[in-house]
Amino acid sequence: MIGQRESVSGAHFAFTDRWGGVGAAPYEELNLGGAVGDDPEVVGTNRELAAKSLGLDPAQVVWMNQVHGADVAVVDGPWGSASEIPSADAVVTARRGLALAVLTADCTPVLLADPVAGIAAAAHAGRPGMIAGVVPAAVRAMAELGAEPSRIVARTGPAVCGRCYEVPDAMRAEVAAVEPAAHAETGWGTPAVDVTAGVHAQLERLGVRDREQSPVCTLESGDHFSYRRERTTGRLAGYIWLD
Ligand SMILES: [Zn+2]
Repeated sequence: MIGQRESVSGAHFAFTDRWGGVGAAPYEELNLGGAVGDDPEVVGTNRELAAKSLGLDPAQVVWMNQVHGADVAVVDGPWGSASEIPSADAVVTARRGLALAVLTADCTPVLLADPVAGIAAAAHAGRPGMIAGVVPAAVRAMAELGAEPSRIVARTGPAVCGRCYEVPDAMRAEVAAVEPAAHAETGWGTPAVDVTAGVHAQLERLGVRDREQSPVCTLESGDHFSYRRERTTGRLAGYIWLD
């Protein structure tokens, strides 16, 4: 259910794995994504189960309509209805107790918090989002609300690693031209991209020093959903909230 959990100065970070839900193959068991073809009732039940295991009210979890872009939504409460959910790949709040959630299956989930200012953010950084700068955009939105990059605690969750994310040579060159830290090579010696390394390099340049990276590679782990391994599959979630 909850694969990784950590609390730092009243900021809570959690990442799910694929087990503990009520879903059937190919979404077994804890698919939390509403746009991957799974039964909406199952997804609703899974979201309740995951929230309760974290001590959260499921109605106080903010989800995004993720589109691999760099738009940031600033929120101070849950969306009124599904039709109100904007297309965004980062969400920021200054409201303590409100949980922000990001869905992934290989992309890098990024959770950020300035516990002193009481500002939290969740971002979805795949290859396009990392290049587009969704994470720096989230940090800028946090700063506008009073966050200080040097106080931000950043955690990236389970994602496909640089040794597994094979891409054509031209694509690697394109990515590396924007973010050199994302230049990688697969375990079998072909061009690859390391999105998580790119995200951490971006955060480093912004002055975010308290950073940690999940050791889990979704493509290598049978306990996690991986789009590149399974194509039709579920979505993991990262959650962040402040006391
Ligand atoms: Zn890997």
